[in-house]
Amino acid sequence: MKSILITGAAGFIGSNLVEYLLEKYPSYKFVVLDALTYAGDLHNLKKVQDAKNFTFVNGNICDRSLVERIFQHYYINNVLHLAAESHVDNSISDPGIFIETNVKGTFTLIDVAYKYWMEKPFVFKTGFENNRFLHVSTDEVYGTLGKTGLFTEQTPYAPNSPYSASKASSDFIVRSYHHTYGMNTIITNCSNNYGPKQHDEKLIPTVIRKALAGEQIPIYGDGSNVRDWLYVADHCKGIDIAFHKGKSGEVYNIGGKNEQNNNYIASKICELLDVIHPLKKGSYKNQITYVTDRAGHDFRYAIDASKIEKDLGWKADENFDSGIEKTVKWYLEKYKE
Ligand code: NAD
Repeated sequence: MKSILITGAAGFIGSNLVEYLLEKYPSYKFVVLDALTYAGDLHNLKKVQDAKNFTFVNGNICDRSLVERIFQHYYINNVLHLAAESHVDNSISDPGIFIETNVKGTFTLIDVAYKYWMEKPFVFKTGFENNRFLHVSTDEVYGTLGKTGLFTEQTPYAPNSPYSASKASSDFIVRSYHHTYGMNTIITNCSNNYGPKQHDEKLIPTVIRKALAGEQIPIYGDGSNVRDWLYVADHCKGIDIAFHKGKSGEVYNIGGKNEQNNNYIASKICELLDVIHPLKKGSYKNQITYVTDRAGHDFRYAIDASKIEKDLGWKADENFDSGIEKTVKWYLEKYKE
């Protein structure tokens, strides 16, 4: 029976993932380890918290003795690793915690997994042969693109922010445990996610929240920075398929073929709000305002997801118009509370 440790599942993607997996795989056991930092919220796990096959542990992935106890107590035989410091702006003002959590935390987890699952390099303990460590990472490790081109799994790493540098480091640690010790690893590098339960600090929740509060909607620079937006449920499906069908040691890029710049995102949300929740007069667009650009702001990210599409049969179900409408409606409810 699969006993899966999911780290960081009180956050945005992890909480969507655990809901999805619990429903799809009722026979699996899920243990969530989350430190409940400012970005984690137990409320995100409300739907799943009472399930018999779900356990929540409040703790830090850098706490080696805790991680060891979890592996032993719950017979952990698979890991889906999502816990991270995830906000680029915070990594610019306070990079140290990104190195601690994203680099040291990933090392701690995979090293405990190695020692718990394997006798020595390339030799699994009996009964542990199929155990897998899946590391969730980001397209930001590839750096920035100009107006054309796409990130493939072969694109050389060129991280530009302390956040992406810490994620790149964690990817390299996972890679090294495959090559040096023969661990069964998968790395997924995904583009920008959007959808329910994302922290208020991120772009899309900020645009919606500021719009509804009648405040200025801040857009960095001239709003021309481009991201490849993927609805969070499609990312969860990608993680699921990479975990179950991916080949050990492989990297899979996940992305929505949906490149939009920040101006488009802000305008689209305002247009939706103008219809769903109209102002007495005028448009929410009048609240859009341009602020000093983020230091070192990458211009464009865009993913070539053809490997996971062709090799594993993944494809995004949601298009941006349907995904953003669902998202705006979800935050309308949240911010009305
Ligand atoms: P998030 O910030 O919403 O959630 C992170 C979670 O990790 C929180 O619940 C937090 O409490 C927990 N956490 C932080 N430090 C911890 C520690 N030391 N020990 C245990 N738990 C800790 O992040 P997210 O947006 O859900 O991202 C999840 C993962 O996906 C991250 O690894 C991120 O790099 C990656 N990713 C995110 C995106 C995106 O657009 N959000 C895109 C690609 C990849």
